[in-house]
Amino acid sequence: MTVNLQGIQTVLLDMDGTLLDLHFDNYFWQTYVYQVYSDKHQIEFSETKHLLDPEFTSRRGTLDWYSVNFWSEKLGLDIMDLKRQVVDKIAYRPQAKEFLQRCGEEIPDVRLITNGHRRVLDLKLEYTQLDQYFDSMICSHELGAPKEQQRFWQELQALQGFDPETTIFIDDSEAVLDSAYQFGIKHLYNIARPDSNLDRERQSKYKLLEAFI
Ligand SMILES: [Mg+2]
Repeated sequence: MTVNLQGIQTVLLDMDGTLLDLHFDNYFWQTYVYQVYSDKHQIEFSETKHLLDPEFTSRRGTLDWYSVNFWSEKLGLDIMDLKRQVVDKIAYRPQAKEFLQRCGEEIPDVRLITNGHRRVLDLKLEYTQLDQYFDSMICSHELGAPKEQQRFWQELQALQGFDPETTIFIDDSEAVLDSAYQFGIKHLYNIARPDSNLDRERQSKYKLLEAFI
């Protein structure tokens, strides 16, 4: 499965798990934060998980879930500072750069659309220079709703119009793709292996990309 760019005017791309390896984020939220919290409060890792998992679960798919400020306050940890401690895990997914280059040459309107917080985006730009490939970069916090909600797409459309019929959107979240589908975006792709450290088979009702090219 490769991405067919023929007749496409707009390419919308997710960042984490799509262009960049989700291992950074998974490691950070599923291991590192728990470790630091456990050390700080002198409790077992398993106890920390037991304490924090309900907090995480209850905010899934909301802007809070993606907010550095929210979790810094909630957990009493400096999330940005902690992220800086594991920046060596920030990496492009295979062939992502080549695909971005191709988009730049062939497509008039290439946008990064992320649920990630602007401060995290800035950190990732520092280490990837991802911004060189995009006409615009939008954080859902700035539109007032995450990609899971219709409001995000309405606001994105209002910001700068695009024709859903000639738009490609690639994201590694099924819930986000469902939301884009509901909005009417015609060409949707999911990612087969967003985290290079996880090998499990993914299922999707959208086309699954093993590689970009
Ligand atoms: Mg993603």
